[in-house]
Amino acid sequence: MKGAALSGFAGMMMTEGSPEKIRCGREALGWPIRKWLTDHFGDRVAFDEPMSRHTSFRVGGSADAFLSLRGIRELTMIARFCKEKGIPYLVIGDGTNLLVTDAGIRGVVMTLTAGFREIKKIKDEGPEVTIQGMAGARARMLCRFAVREGFAGLNFAVGIPGTVGGALMMNAGTPRGCMADVVECVEIFHPEGRIEKYPRHDLHFTYRKMTWGLEPIADKENSIILSGFFRLRRSDARLLKTEADAILKERRERQPWRLPSAGCFFKNPTGDISAGNLIDRAGLKGKSIGGAQVSKRHANFIVNTGKATASDILVLAEEIEETVLKVFGVKLEPEVKIIGS
Ligand SMILES: Cc1cc2nc3c(=O)[nH]c(=O)nc-3n(C[C@H](O)[C@H](O)[C@H](O)COP(=O)(O)OP(=O)(O)OC[C@H]3O[C@@H](n4cnc5c(N)ncnc54)[C@H](O)[C@@H]3O)c2cc1C
Repeated sequence: MKGAALSGFAGMMMTEGSPEKIRCGREALGWPIRKWLTDHFGDRVAFDEPMSRHTSFRVGGSADAFLSLRGIRELTMIARFCKEKGIPYLVIGDGTNLLVTDAGIRGVVMTLTAGFREIKKIKDEGPEVTIQGMAGARARMLCRFAVREGFAGLNFAVGIPGTVGGALMMNAGTPRGCMADVVECVEIFHPEGRIEKYPRHDLHFTYRKMTWGLEPIADKENSIILSGFFRLRRSDARLLKTEADAILKERRERQPWRLPSAGCFFKNPTGDISAGNLIDRAGLKGKSIGGAQVSKRHANFIVNTGKATASDILVLAEEIEETVLKVFGVKLEPEVKIIGS
């Protein structure tokens, strides 16, 4: 589970390989920094905040500071402050694709879900329309908006939890499609305060990843996705709604909804076989370590049965990787992002 460093910023780095892991600097935030944050963000900053409250796995240690941002002015201010003080920061969405280690995250974790939520129609050109979704809006609201307006193209994402920002960053999708199929451009905030729009041809989408140029966007000077523009087609709202309901029903039947998880833990290896199929055939369905379990319903889901720690999940994931490699000679790679110090 180790990988070579790709690039670094302010004591924070993302490593390539299996799993992707963001490590933050070791020092907790000192008193003057806490005071500045409290003075500027009041009760929207929480210190030593358990990340189990902000991730769908419901595990993970604390972030030194957790901040809910309301708008660009605040984003500019905090990005400048962090850069100036050398404090690592990380923007997350709904934490539905994250596993935060038990040691937690050093630095500031931010979310845009309180302020960056607007979804609107931008262009209407005959059979084609463009809608814009802010990064903090829920992906389900984006899908619902498109269905209600009779715009086709986003139904593949029905039932995928999380935000528009997270969906773009992860190139979220299903066998029906992925974000790359509908993205027209992405609006990016650079830490020095510049906002730039990157058209589709400047973005590089691969399996569960959006990259920009040669490097992952999150590594590029701590850039943050502000919004996405999606090119859709005019269609019939009633037909789209029927399709969306069927997709949701099918997902509910196939996936373990009641227990905390981060969705599919491993990427599907290349070829026709799914990671879930390999894990199932390796006899691992139901296998538990501590409170972490390979779901009995969907073998590529690791679920938290109630009292799991991040370590339980990591140890179980490692055991899955080793067993699948031994039995089938296939190296599984986590789809879930593993974050922490
Ligand atoms: C039950 C369940 C089912 C799921 N099913 C699917 C599925 O069918 N298909 C699928 O693809 N995924 C699925 N997932 C995984 C997850 O929901 C998606 O990857 C989702 O798009 C993540 O969105 P998020 O807002 O939670 O992002 P997070 O998990 O919070 O973040 C994901 C990554 O994006 C970065 N990020 C988030 N917002 C921004 C931003 N504004 N700017 C820069 N970086 C940002 C974070 O730093 C992190 O690196 C599932 C998860 C669960 C729990």
